[in-house]
Amino acid sequence: MDISDLFAYDCPAYPLPHISGGTSEFVATVYLTNRCNMRCAACYVSAGSGRGELSIYQWKHIIRELDEAGARYIYFLGGEPTMSPHLPELIKFSSELGLSPSLSTNGLAGSSNIARKLAESGLEHVQVSLDSSNWMLNDELRGAGSFRMAIKAVREFRKLAIPINISTTVSDRNFNDVNGALMFAEEIGAGGMNFIAVQSFGNAEINHLSLSYRNARVAIAQMLAYKGPLKITANGFRFYLKPDEFFRASIGNKLTCPAGKNYIVVGADGKVYGCDLLMVKGIAVGNALSIDMRHIIEKRFSDLNERKSVTFKPCSFCMFRASCQGGCPARALNAFNTIYANDPLCNWSTHISN
Ligand code: SF4
Ligand code: SF4
Repeated sequence: MDISDLFAYDCPAYPLPHISGGTSEFVATVYLTNRCNMRCAACYVSAGSGRGELSIYQWKHIIRELDEAGARYIYFLGGEPTMSPHLPELIKFSSELGLSPSLSTNGLAGSSNIARKLAESGLEHVQVSLDSSNWMLNDELRGAGSFRMAIKAVREFRKLAIPINISTTVSDRNFNDVNGALMFAEEIGAGGMNFIAVQSFGNAEINHLSLSYRNARVAIAQMLAYKGPLKITANGFRFYLKPDEFFRASIGNKLTCPAGKNYIVVGADGKVYGCDLLMVKGIAVGNALSIDMRHIIEKRFSDLNERKSVTFKPCSFCMFRASCQGGCPARALNAFNTIYANDPLCNWSTHISN
């Protein structure tokens, strides 16, 4: 597999690179609930409780606004979105508006009743979280019983002919299992895999889960060596590439941050963010219940838009500045308390041309 195919959109938060990556189509992730039945070691939102959740009427208002603002895809997330009683009706509502609804599940959606109800509501795609082909390692990372639940979910959605993608967070714990995970995903009937480099936010930061350069290279080598039928994508791996690979991966504008441009996130309380990691940092640009969504999208992301001109060092001297635009603003914020700084994962000295 060529590196340019592997990188459909290199943002560790962007949920649908395998579907819409590389295009300018507008994706909205909706955190329907913060409740979760699991406590995954790498969960960046540290999901758990369900405080202050919105009513179904409030969610319908927000979804209508997203549609009017030009969203094409709506991705239901949490927590575990199937823990919200509103999920089937909101999928139906989204579908009737012409949005393409998909969701992420840890496998709880795999009960045949829930899966059928979601399919009948108009669900078009499902992403199932699975971090290893080894059940013990998976359950260590994602919680007891999660391996069994995820497989059941894949089987149920397969029966219903809903396309399934496996989402795998890659860290120093499971980097060696990329090939095993690909073989396993083929065996259980998934259509693709999205490998996400672990991000040092939320539980991952608390649990000191990280991904070393050496281990990331091992993981990438396994992805590149894959010759099977699954469509695979790598998210959040750009700074583990060598310069020539970085160049090839950037073709087609696939390394620029989509936050506030063709991607936004609505939190479980209606607050709007550029992306999931900016939500974790609490950088809201307004609340969808009180401000018109079009106004938010047109006027409230000026900081992120301004950052794209890369006026800060060392990025302003970098030969990759046009295609990289300083990397991930959320990681810069996390490390340096400002988005006007280079991505802390960047080994920039190797990229500077003068
Ligand atoms: S120096 Fe800046 S623009 Fe260049 S690769 Fe690093 S983060 Fe990207
Ligand atoms: S700030 Fe941009 S690149 Fe970073 S996670 Fe968010 S959307 Fe992705």
